[in-house]
Amino acid sequence: LSTRGNRHSVPRIGIMGGTFDPIHNGHLVAASEVAWVYDLDEVVFVPTGRPVFKLDKVVTNAEDRYLMTVIATASNPKFTVSRVDIDRPGVTYTIDTLRDIHAARPDAELFFITGADAIAEIMRWKDAEEMWSLAHFVAVSRPGYSSDLKNLDIPARAVDMLEIPALAISSTDVRRRSEDGEPVWYLVPDGVVQYISKHGLYR
Ligand code: ATP
Ligand code: MG
Repeated sequence: LSTRGNRHSVPRIGIMGGTFDPIHNGHLVAASEVAWVYDLDEVVFVPTGRPVFKLDKVVTNAEDRYLMTVIATASNPKFTVSRVDIDRPGVTYTIDTLRDIHAARPDAELFFITGADAIAEIMRWKDAEEMWSLAHFVAVSRPGYSSDLKNLDIPARAVDMLEIPALAISSTDVRRRSEDGEPVWYLVPDGVVQYISKHGLYR
């Protein structure tokens, strides 16, 4: 994978998929670091529709998750948000996300950004072979999760590992804190703190 310092002839686009319930500073640091190391022109945040790994859980409605993602990313000129997953009916599969972004930006080289926990699920992902052909995969470190690829049946050249500044933040913890009335300042961007309280999410 070519990284910084090379001259790139095609646009390089990162894809940061997630439930973003809510988006937090761990997501933003990961996207920012991958953008820097891989010299990306843009990172597209893609809130999931119905996440396939969370079918048994209650997830905040897509419009609130989408708006919080827009608020959190608005100040970064390289960050954008896509509605492809929330506008596609049914369960979200990563292969569909990649196909849709590829169709919208056929000229671009795609980099799918994922945390150490999500990469472990990769084997259960549908159409893995086609995924490797559509994008590079960058697995970022995440506190509390090991990112050992050795035991997983993943082609070595398909996934790159990247150490990022560790932020032990999860959406689960932000939701739990909100529910218990504990502060979430500085775990999520200010606008997201205010959106959560204005709309009474996670109570
Ligand atoms: P939840 O606790 O509800 O599962 P989450 O914090 O894991 O939420 P997701 O929306 O599930 O957030 O994650 C989207 C992507 O971001 C995943 O690939 C996940 O591994 C990655 N990610 C989430 N939090 C971090 C973090 N603190 N550092 C690095 N990567 C992260
Ligand atoms: Mg998660």
